[in-house]
Formats: sequence, C-alpha cells, structure tokens
Amino acid sequence: MVNRTIVRIDEEKCTGCGKCIAPCAEGAIELVNGKAKVVSDELCDGMGFCIGVCPVDAISIEQRQALEFNPEKAEAQPKKTDISIQCCKCGCGEESAYLLPVRHGMESQWICTRCLPQLIHG
Ligand code: SF4
Repeated sequence: MVNRTIVRIDEEKCTGCGKCIAPCAEGAIELVNGKAKVVSDELCDGMGFCIGVCPVDAISIEQRQALEFNPEKAEAQPKKTDISIQCCKCGCGEESAYLLPVRHGMESQWICTRCLPQLIHG
C-alpha cells in the first residue's frame, strides 16, 4: 500500500448514468447495483479524466492509502466503447475523431478536435 491520489465516487450523488465508464482508459470504473464504483485500486491511476464527464459532480480525487497503480493490469482490461459519446457540435463519435470532455454552464459535453478551434475562437 502507498499513499497516493485516487478517484473517489460519491454514491449519494451518483445517478448510475454510466457516462464515466468508457472515458476511463484503464477500465477501473464499472456500474455495480446501479452505482459507479472503482472496482480495483490497482486499475485507477488517479488522473481523474472521469471527473469532467460526470453531470452531477459525484467524482473527485482523494489522497489515501491504496494499492499502487498497476499499468500492466490496466492495459489488459477490455476497452469499452460508448456509442452515446458524440461531439456536441458535429455529432461524430469516438470511432472517427478524438473526443475531449468540456464543461460549460454546469453541463458536461464532448467535443471533437476538429470542432475544438471553433469552440475556442468562436
Ligand atoms: S458519470 Fe457520475 S453520475 Fe454517472 S455513473 Fe459516473 S459517477 Fe455516477
């Protein structure tokens, strides 16, 4: 065990929408009984990419004793795709473009790298 940063999911806030599952490249998050859970400390690198996609701010980063992140184990996890993830401007999915999470007006959205310049510069 080491003292490190790791994702924390507030079960009281979690609605079980599942939006945080596919963005986790390490496959650390799954829905268990309708709530998102970090299924293994070894799979969570604590980077928090999932934070920005949660519509109810149920995800945060905490510092605590946990197993060390295991990159080999994370790499071996089956990769999840989510066809509901689409660019909020052009509607393309992750199969055709890189998608980035953005937040605006208390909403989480995805935007592809082709539309990002338009979002930044108007
Ligand atoms: S995105 Fe947020 S509300 Fe949805 S399942 Fe994940 S933690 Fe729960």
